[in-house]
Amino acid sequence: MSDRSLSRRQYLTSVGGAAVTLSVAGCMGDGGSGSGDGGGGSGSTGTEQAPSITAGTAPGFPPFEMKEGGELVGFDIDLFEAVVSETEYQFDGWSEFEFDSLIPALTNNNIDAIAAGMTINEKRDETIDFTDPYYSSDQAIVVREDGDFSPGSLSDLADRPIGAQKGTTGEGVVQDELVGDEITQNQYNAYDNYVLAIQDLQNGNVDAVVIDVPVAETFAKNRPVEIAFVYETGEKFGFGVRTDDDELTSALNSGLSAVRESGRYEELTQKWFGE
Ligand code: GLN
Repeated sequence: MSDRSLSRRQYLTSVGGAAVTLSVAGCMGDGGSGSGDGGGGSGSTGTEQAPSITAGTAPGFPPFEMKEGGELVGFDIDLFEAVVSETEYQFDGWSEFEFDSLIPALTNNNIDAIAAGMTINEKRDETIDFTDPYYSSDQAIVVREDGDFSPGSLSDLADRPIGAQKGTTGEGVVQDELVGDEITQNQYNAYDNYVLAIQDLQNGNVDAVVIDVPVAETFAKNRPVEIAFVYETGEKFGFGVRTDDDELTSALNSGLSAVRESGRYEELTQKWFGE
């Protein structure tokens, strides 16, 4: 696509050779601390073709993934690329999907990994595997900033039109905790992405949106909406990988440890979540 993806690829190529030693050492140890410096040798053949992988994401989930001036950016984008650069894999770029198409895209081999603020849960774990967690979240109930509706608990949402994005854990909260009890199925509005849900909240077509807290905070900074209350779910985000791709899963886990140990993870959380 743009100059930037070219330079990103050149960057990955340039660090790829050095990363082999690190990730091989990392796979054998308990996270590879310090093993990149002294333990040379294992990655020295240099003749093997490093496998290429692609990743899928679903923009519209700021600050994890969004489009800025046509460019795909965000915490997941930076973090996943940093993680891959710590492995022997080459990164071949991003494909964009609606959130609920990501798991089918992965299982159909259209992509090799998912980086989309995706919560690790039992239902998804039946179909795909996840890496170790890289971020935690609860669900926020977001309302209009200038409205007179200030719910403090789920029961305050009774008989209100509520929005969430299709296939998400936010939708799960609506379906499991609200529909058939506080609200009817018709009062639940499912959106292809959260940008449309928040837009409809601003327009008055729904009175609340259920969405991951860090994303709610980002929308609240940029739009006339606010968090009314938080519903604790204790979710953890992981990268999604095919169940038969154990090598990639363990390489990404080693890469994740390396990125945490190098301080890069902290830098990226500051960049995307800092004030
Ligand atoms: N964390 C939520 C989930 O996994 C939402 C993810 C998203 O919308 N990108 O369902």
